Amino acid sequence: MASGGVVPRPPEHVRCKNFGCNKYFDPRHADQTACVCHRLPPVFHETAKYWACCPDKKAYDWEEFMKIPGCQQGHCSDVSKEKKFLGGSDLRAENAPKRLDDEVPVDPRKKLDRLREGLVSLGVSPDDFDRAWGRLGAKLGDLSLVSQKMSQLFTEALQTMDTDDMNLPD
Ligand SMILES: [Zn+2]
Ligand SMILES: [Zn+2]
Repeated sequence: MASGGVVPRPPEHVRCKNFGCNKYFDPRHADQTACVCHRLPPVFHETAKYWACCPDKKAYDWEEFMKIPGCQQGHCSDVSKEKKFLGGSDLRAENAPKRLDDEVPVDPRKKLDRLREGLVSLGVSPDDFDRAWGRLGAKLGDLSLVSQKMSQLFTEALQTMDTDDMNLPD
C-alpha cells in the first residue's frame, strides 16, 4: 500500500468510543493502542463547542473543535462512555433534592440564557459565565440542577454582598 494512501480498514476493527478519539482499532489488541481522548462528553452551547472536561478550550466551528487535543491518555475502548456518563447523572438527578421544575414551567436552558443576558448587560464577561455553567454542567450533569445551583450561589452572593466591607446597621 502506497504511503499516504488510505489503508483499508480490517473488518474486525471497531471505532473507539472514547470521547474525541474516533480512531479505528482492533478490539483484540486494545492494550496496544495509544488513545488520546477526553474524560467527559462534548458540550454545545449556542455557537461554542467544547469538551465538558476542558471548558477553557472553546471552538466555534467543527474543524476547530475536532482539533482540541485530548486531556487524557490510555487505550482505545469499544465500550461507550456516554451511557456510563448519562447513567451516572441520571442517578445523581434521582438522588438530588426535589426540583422546582413543576412550579416554574420554564426550560432551564432558557433560565440560564436569561441570567447570562442579564449578567452580560451588567458588564459580566460572557466567557466567565459560560465557563462557570460549563463546569457546573459537567459536574451536575443536568441543566435544571445547574440553574438551581446558580440560584443558590447568587442568593449567597447577594446575601453577603451588602455586609462585606460596609458598616451597615443590621
Ligand atoms: Zn478534555
Ligand atoms: Zn481511542
